[in-house]
Amino acid sequence: TFGVYPEAWLSENGNCFIFSLMFSISVMVIACPCALGLATPTAVMGKASVTNAKVFTKMELGDFLTLVASAEASSEHPLARAIVDYAYHFHFFGKLATVKDAKNHVKDAKFSEWLLDVSDFSALPGRGVQCVINGERVLVGNRRLLTDNGVTIPTDAETFLVGLEESAKTGILVAYNNILTGVLGVADPLKREAAVVIEGLKKMGVQPVMVTGDNWRTAGAVAKEVGIKDVRAEVMPAGKADIIRSLQKDGSVVAMVGDGINDSPALAAADVGMAIGAGTDIAIEAADYVLMRNSLEDVITAIDLSRKTFTRIR
Ligand code: ADP
Ligand code: MG
Repeated sequence: TFGVYPEAWLSENGNCFIFSLMFSISVMVIACPCALGLATPTAVMGKASVTNAKVFTKMELGDFLTLVASAEASSEHPLARAIVDYAYHFHFFGKLATVKDAKNHVKDAKFSEWLLDVSDFSALPGRGVQCVINGERVLVGNRRLLTDNGVTIPTDAETFLVGLEESAKTGILVAYNNILTGVLGVADPLKREAAVVIEGLKKMGVQPVMVTGDNWRTAGAVAKEVGIKDVRAEVMPAGKADIIRSLQKDGSVVAMVGDGINDSPALAAADVGMAIGAGTDIAIEAADYVLMRNSLEDVITAIDLSRKTFTRIR
């Protein structure tokens, strides 16, 4: 197998896909960090996990983690899943969870009993979540979410954040009652093959572009590790498809690799949309192509195969 749905080769879509590859993809947009550091349990390379947690008020670390997990419990975002797993383990075991331990315990039926009551929950795409706990507003998300809501980020917290971002981690800020309470660091390990695949794409004449909702510093650190020069960070969910369209307007045939909910408009807008098989259903639906082995190597295989097919047809 080539890591694709066999149907894709037979269906109209599939033909269409081969056809678009024949024109030779000139730009490959890679949603990141999700596409590179796969945030699903089935990934070859682990998943997003909390690596740092620091409280900047008098709140106990355990209470802080329970607060954040309660706010994130209804979110489907990979960052939210990582936070809830971590807080769950901390709550019951009082120490850092291994991903495997946390996953096993999360299966527990009594899972939600330790969480606080939440009201007025809303997920704010590209920014974080907001809710009310103990009668106070709780915000969990990026700088933009907090500053838009009038929360001041003290210097010590900002310094801590920058440190996380420089080491390619996503910093998540938490405000309780409009006061910056703490910061979490989440690491999304790179897929093992990422750098090699990017190098291979460049050799094939494909120009890689990284697109992410994450902040510029984290995105820059990840891009450097995988060898991508063209980075578009702090992109709001709708902005990913806009970027695809602007690259097309510049005359490029664009392929997009992604796995998240936010990636589906861009997957649909691209000449060729490639979803990671372990990604969200909606991304898989929007794509022309599914990488069933979850390996980015299959991106190269797909392009290679299509080019060969075209040569034969000609
Ligand atoms: P991407 O899909 O490119 O990773 P998203 O649009 O999903 O980007 O998220 C962009 C940023 O918004 C994240 O890096 C994070 O800072 C913030 N964010 C989004 N959802 C959440 C959430 N549930 N909890 C905390 N932060 C979030
Ligand atoms: Mg995402």
